[in-house]
Amino acid sequence: MQEAITQAIQKIKEARYIALLTHIDPDADTLGSALGLYHSLLGLSKRASLVNTTKLPYNLDFLPGIKKIKKEPPKRCDLMISFDCGSFDRLGIEKKEAFLINIDHHRSNTMYGDINIVDPTAAATGEVVYALLEKGGMPIPKESAISLYTALVDDTGFFQYEGVGAKTFELAKKLCARGASPEWVARMLKMREPLSKLRLLPLVLQTLTLHLNAKVASLRMTRHMLAQTGATKEMGEDALHMARNLATVEVALLLREEEDGRIKVSMRSKERVDVGKIAVAFGGGGHKRAAGFVSDLHDFDRVLHLLLEAIKKEME
Ligand code: AMP
Ligand code: MN
Ligand code: MN
Repeated sequence: MQEAITQAIQKIKEARYIALLTHIDPDADTLGSALGLYHSLLGLSKRASLVNTTKLPYNLDFLPGIKKIKKEPPKRCDLMISFDCGSFDRLGIEKKEAFLINIDHHRSNTMYGDINIVDPTAAATGEVVYALLEKGGMPIPKESAISLYTALVDDTGFFQYEGVGAKTFELAKKLCARGASPEWVARMLKMREPLSKLRLLPLVLQTLTLHLNAKVASLRMTRHMLAQTGATKEMGEDALHMARNLATVEVALLLREEEDGRIKVSMRSKERVDVGKIAVAFGGGGHKRAAGFVSDLHDFDRVLHLLLEAIKKEME
């Protein structure tokens, strides 16, 4: 991976116009990682544009530079870099227009780049971006530090998840020293909830069902629930975490009805079941403890039935 980082630094230094690509249904890690590099590139007087083809979550509006994100990739650029995206289709773009550097930490990454910097031991893609900036001797302004710190805390559940250790805190320390404020970032991320979200959560929690000796909990979220409350689709995630947090539960599932009627599945586990492996078998991806996929089936019960069979096998 060090070799890939060296090659990537070379490519970045040569490039004049760079497109920074983030994954569909973006989260703090993909956006924070892209913005972390973006502000560094501005310091190097590079032209850079930021791309996300889908809707941005409401609570990430504080990330420095987020308003610069465009829905379409630029017509011409000489380098593309993707962040936190395990497969090319999750970028939401038609085709690769230029040399592509893939920066990520998903074990399920399909290595779709011309250079792949994929570190499954990294707690967040933001950690990989920081390593690149540091190795390349590139600028790390306050805006980059805030963006990368946000990526790091969000993907680790504020330093709770597997993979968090001394190096995570060392990185957090460096980012704080460069101007990231933990209190401000936490307040921006977590303490500006809309009422619609609090109205949605009880509707989702009411669907909670326990399976396989109460080791698995499933939740459902319909388009109707979103329409009824005015909430947006990413707002159900807290209900999923509450279901996982039940004492008996090892795996929690959220089955969400998408705009086109397909079912998006989000999975979280505590310590034994590798949900990333299950997601890959269903055509998706992710990590051991957090993974997802979109099923072409339009039927909650059928998706749940297939999933429970797969989970049962994993738990044996
Ligand atoms: P989510 O359940 O959407 O919050 O995602 C949890 C993890 O699984 C994240 O790391 C995602 O990148 C990954 N993931 C979710 N959905 C998909 C998908 N359809 N394909 C590949 N990876 C996914
Ligand atoms: Mn992500
Ligand atoms: Mn990530």
